[in-house]
Amino acid sequence: METLKNRLRINVGFIINATVGYTREFDFEFAQYKDDDLSLNLVRGEITISRAAQGLLAEGNFEANTPLECVKCLTEYQQAVQWQFSEFFAFKEENITESGLLVPDDAQIDFKELFREFAILEFPIRPVCMADCKGLCIECGINLNQSDCGHRQGPSGPLSELRNIIGN
Ligand SMILES: [Zn+2]
Ligand SMILES: [Zn+2]
Repeated sequence: METLKNRLRINVGFIINATVGYTREFDFEFAQYKDDDLSLNLVRGEITISRAAQGLLAEGNFEANTPLECVKCLTEYQQAVQWQFSEFFAFKEENITESGLLVPDDAQIDFKELFREFAILEFPIRPVCMADCKGLCIECGINLNQSDCGHRQGPSGPLSELRNIIGN
């Protein structure tokens, strides 16, 4: 479990000791990533760390799939997500930027929080399984992507007006 929890921790000691301008890329690939409220599959990406004069610049670039429920047909599907972050970790308090990040004394930077935070920001507010998802039949509730129950779904009619009012 320890190793799973620390998968996004990088020992940056050798970068601190490198000359200004030194850059190193760390590649990541996880079949699965799970914690409290985040579940990702096929995670791929990299974190590039560059030595600056007053600290380290970390640039992350990731992609993954996450299971979400479609707001139209209520089916779980895999949503592709891409996210980036770019943060400065200062060596000393006086050089801290608005991100408030410092290089830890043990030179181990755990990127888990940044990874999580920026991934979740890219999740759609109204997830939809596909652009032309037909949703559920307003009369019988059948998933119209899978079968056609024959009920008329048109934009007019009392039921669809009711749906518009409830905002569905
Ligand atoms: Zn759908
Ligand atoms: Zn129907």
